[in-house]
Amino acid sequence: KDELKIAVGAINLKRRIVVDSMTKIEEVFMLPETAMLNQTAIANIARAGYTRIPVFRQGDQRDICDVLITKDLALIDPDDNYTVRMLCNIYKHPIPRMSGQTTLFSALQTFRTGDDGHLAVVYRESDNETIGIITLEDVVEEILQEE
Ligand code: ATP
Ligand code: ATP
Repeated sequence: KDELKIAVGAINLKRRIVVDSMTKIEEVFMLPETAMLNQTAIANIARAGYTRIPVFRQGDQRDICDVLITKDLALIDPDDNYTVRMLCNIYKHPIPRMSGQTTLFSALQTFRTGDDGHLAVVYRESDNETIGIITLEDVVEEILQEE
């Protein structure tokens, strides 16, 4: 019975689209590129609990320019006055962008073949506006149908 459910979930990947499985931009934990990575900021990042944190250009939360991977924080000293931008410049993780109308099947392909791509930024086709993020985990949840 479980196997059948998973098989159905897998088949549905070609019918389901990203916009229905993504996390809406309003609910995403993000950082401005100008943020200082001091002790308080690092503690807040740790408390949020996410592995991947989208980074936006000052003043526009929808202008996502990078992603900070929390393990990159391991080598920085909180007293060195690093900004998010400086860390992103060191590590340079590419972020795939995909339309909300993309099928989960092709989202999965992107995540599998991409360099660092376990998170993608989702945009609305009509006006190119950022509307959310989607991760590999969101696609897996659709396969297992356990939302
Ligand atoms: P990992 O499991 O690889 O450590 P994670 O727990 O940080 O990563 P995922 O497992 O990729 O995150 O995703 C779990 C859920 O959280 C998904 O629904 C995803 O869309 C959402 N999510 C991921 N990153 C963020 C974030 N920075 N802010 C808000 N939601 C996020
Ligand atoms: P993430 O993609 O969430 O950052 P990761 O790249 O560290 O995690 P996975 O993507 O979970 O690791 O696994 C990739 C491959 O590396 C898998 O084959 C896994 O078994 C292997 N792997 C994961 N952690 C280790 C480790 N500590 N030592 C050796 N191999 C590992």
